[in-house]
Amino acid sequence: MARIPIVAGNWKMNKSPVQATAFVHELIPLLAPLTEAERVLCPPFISIPSVHAAVQGTSIKVGAQNVHTELHGAYTGSISVTMLKELVEYVIVGHSEVREYLGETDVVINSKIQLLLNHGLKPILAVGESLSQFEAGLTESFVVGQLKAALEGIPMDEIHKIVIAYEPIWAIGSGRTATGAQANDIIGLIRFTVGQLYGTAIADQVRIQYGGSVKPNNMREFMRQPEIDGALVGGASLHSGDFVELTRIAIEATHEKAAEAR
Ligand code: PEP
Repeated sequence: MARIPIVAGNWKMNKSPVQATAFVHELIPLLAPLTEAERVLCPPFISIPSVHAAVQGTSIKVGAQNVHTELHGAYTGSISVTMLKELVEYVIVGHSEVREYLGETDVVINSKIQLLLNHGLKPILAVGESLSQFEAGLTESFVVGQLKAALEGIPMDEIHKIVIAYEPIWAIGSGRTATGAQANDIIGLIRFTVGQLYGTAIADQVRIQYGGSVKPNNMREFMRQPEIDGALVGGASLHSGDFVELTRIAIEATHEKAAEAR
């Protein structure tokens, strides 16, 4: 079964509600012909309602950048899954910035994935090694460890709803990227590990993105790799022309790979 490419824009702490609305109105006509890729916009919490309203009537999806582990209560400054599910389809969990700045652990990430799936939302699970781990040759063991911890106890029939994003921390926002081949190797290992846990038929369905300084000029190199199904994009997703071009390349490269596989 062919995997539908997915390009997700992580806006981080950018675009107010008014800016987000204007941006989405700019994007809609440009993305309209590009329906063969799933396109997901992940604004900051405060701009989610504006983006949700602006994408009505289109197939553009909305995602959140985080979620709290509790459903309600005395958690000042937090947003729960029951609030998000009225407005989003995806939620990013395990982003390295959240792991680093908000102390999100593998155990918390696992509980967020369970919570999201229980409420019908789809996690985008980010994993990836630091520069020192990369330089010490620890990438494989570290990423596999993060993945296994995140998927602990997740039932087999839910796995296909999870999108995994391999994001080497040293490539995020740095302008430095993994090569297509390096990213493909680690993403292949992620798929192999999902296969060990759940079987190869399920692993073949799971979509795995690359993330880390993806731009229109390097997207093709990633998307042409057999294991890579899309991109989780920070900086470039803030520019409509770039986001559209990334989506166009994702679709084109997916067609090329399919034609070569025939
Ligand atoms: C990200 O935030 O997930 C990311 C990959 O950012 P950037 O594309 O800016 O490196």
